[in-house]
Amino acid sequence: MSNGPEGLRPGEQSAELEPANDARLRFIGTIRTPWHDRRDCPRQGRLDGPECQMVLDPVWHAALQGLEEYDTIEVLYWLDQSRRDLVRQSPKSDGQTFGTFALRSPVRPNPIGTAMVKLLRIEKGTLVVRGLDCLDGTPLIDIKPDRCAFTPKAPPKAGS
Ligand code: SAM
Repeated sequence: MSNGPEGLRPGEQSAELEPANDARLRFIGTIRTPWHDRRDCPRQGRLDGPECQMVLDPVWHAALQGLEEYDTIEVLYWLDQSRRDLVRQSPKSDGQTFGTFALRSPVRPNPIGTAMVKLLRIEKGTLVVRGLDCLDGTPLIDIKPDRCAFTPKAPPKAGS
């Protein structure tokens, strides 16, 4: 189904917005994947997906110390090719609409993507992972272990 004059699908709604006053994010590197067109990207990454690289800027290499202990890590990335003004979206172009915050669509006011990925190895500041779903060249925002030694423990249950 074709998109309308503003690139909107049937049922979609955009907002009139001031130019974004970005919160001065600091990208820490670049993600390398096999996908160069959004239509080829998986909707969500799979842990048995292809190997991808997260290439960190050299200034952050020392920040990886200890991360090799983790099999699964959380990645945050900036879906830089997304429009950011849709309030309602029709992901399947079939006229069925959803509010932006009821979707994991890349189209959102602040297009942050997140994924839990499998860490295969770290090679000179490049993390080799499986489980990503973003385009080649997507800016990297942050990396976190799934849990760490400093994660607060859950309080004991009453009566235990
Ligand atoms: N896993 C993340 C999440 O749940 O937050 C992202 C999910 S989003 C549905 C993944 C889709 O975003 C891909 O299928 C592709 O269509 C699109 N995408 C990937 N990289 C992008 C980029 N750099 N800019 C805009 N859209 C992108």
